[in-house]
Amino acid sequence: MVKDLGALLENKIIEECGVFGIYNVKNAAQLTYYGLHALQHRGQQGAGIATFDGEKISRYRGEGLVIEIFNSENISRLKGEYSIGHVRMGSDEVSGIENIQPLLVRSHTGDFTVAHNGRIINYEQLRTQLEYEGSIFQTSSSSEVICHLIQRQTGTFTEKIKKAIGKLEGSFAFLIMTEKNIYAVRDKNGFSPLAIAKLDDGFVISSETVGFEMINAQIIRDVKPGEIIKIGKKGLRSIMYTESTQKKMCSMEYIYLARPDSDIDGLNVHASRRMCGRILAQEFPCEDADIVIGVPDSSLSAAMGYSDGAGVPYEIGLIKNRYIGRTFIQPTQEERERGVKMKLSPVSNTIKGKNIVLVDDSIVRGTTSKYIVKLLKEAGAKAVHVRIASPAMVAPCFYGVDTSSLKDLISARMSLQELRDYIGADSLGFLSNEGLKKGLGNNICSACFDREYPTYLFGLDENFKKELKKLKN
Ligand code: 5GP
Ligand code: SF4
Ligand code: MG
Repeated sequence: MVKDLGALLENKIIEECGVFGIYNVKNAAQLTYYGLHALQHRGQQGAGIATFDGEKISRYRGEGLVIEIFNSENISRLKGEYSIGHVRMGSDEVSGIENIQPLLVRSHTGDFTVAHNGRIINYEQLRTQLEYEGSIFQTSSSSEVICHLIQRQTGTFTEKIKKAIGKLEGSFAFLIMTEKNIYAVRDKNGFSPLAIAKLDDGFVISSETVGFEMINAQIIRDVKPGEIIKIGKKGLRSIMYTESTQKKMCSMEYIYLARPDSDIDGLNVHASRRMCGRILAQEFPCEDADIVIGVPDSSLSAAMGYSDGAGVPYEIGLIKNRYIGRTFIQPTQEERERGVKMKLSPVSNTIKGKNIVLVDDSIVRGTTSKYIVKLLKEAGAKAVHVRIASPAMVAPCFYGVDTSSLKDLISARMSLQELRDYIGADSLGFLSNEGLKKGLGNNICSACFDREYPTYLFGLDENFKKELKKLKN
């Protein structure tokens, strides 16, 4: 249990992931493989697929990228027309093959398998209680409590899920495959995206709509906050497990995480980033700018928006080497810096002698911006004005989406001027909290920017909450 600020500073739990499922379509494992491939950006630590062939549930999991784990041989062993899959991004504390999902429960009452995206914030309390009552855990992932809680309930499987969810706090978008049905569940705040589509006589469920594009499935709709969708022989059945819902989609999904070609809750990610870039241009114009450039890939849409809003030409100023992973995957600061270096190179011809507006999607530790400002200056830029298409990140995320370590967040430690000097920029501006809401609407979680956590923060004592309040600018 997190008891004080010191402990929280060390608490770095990232469990952001992607889930994908197929109900009643031939070669389900093959399609799930394609779906997971489209969701690869949501987690590169490991992946797994489970199928049901009418008799038994089979599963194959591995560490690394989807393309490295699966091949025609292991896919062909995953038989059946029902399947769920998972791509995983975990922190060092929660690594290892046993934590790779789908998790599988073998039971005399029927086997089932779970693929979960999100983080259960009352996990420690639930796990302690479940262990006290005799449950034996096999993983260190917060997702396993879902399996134990379901297994312990009575009634139909749907009733068991409903009762289990009643005990969960935090963010969850998960799929459960039993020997009859697939269930898609979204928490009452709808922190993480989850949508459902039609394919032939069956259905597809995916964390992001890019998964549907990949296999030509037609989107039906997003799963609603507080909803269980039961997919079975009779089609779809919607069960609201609570009426007290309040949509708070994680704003970081739009800002950084999701793919620009996905639509989340009806809003296209590229369009949302472009809109935030436009608003940023109004809030932090740059008088003498010659060109606007973005940091590939996640900031390009916002840079285009800034260019639209400022009436300054958009240019390609940085090229990304596509063959290395995201910088966050590197565990140490040194490796992260090397990671950024390996990843980007400047287009000197565009940059030389220019006043540049450099748009990035976010600043966490400041590593990326500091390095890029240096890179651009070395390539001959006259001035580099940094504009960030999200507000200053000042608070940790408890929902497993972003880094939860407060000490990593450079904006929680430095003033705007200090940060500008640290990254070596000629000027620095962040999108405001109001600007973010203008761009993304009010139904978003923005707690890492404004400390307005949408849920009760389990396990945090009152002192910590006071410390958190004090940090508020
Ligand atoms: P920094 O370099 O300031 O620590 O991190 C911000 C940069 O890292 C941005 O360019 C952003 O695109 C990238 N980034 C990589 N992984 C993540 C992540 O999980 N969250 C956020 N907010 N940014 C990330
Ligand atoms: Fe997303 Fe930030 Fe809310 Fe976490 S705190 S769910 S990263 S908006
Ligand atoms: Mg980036």
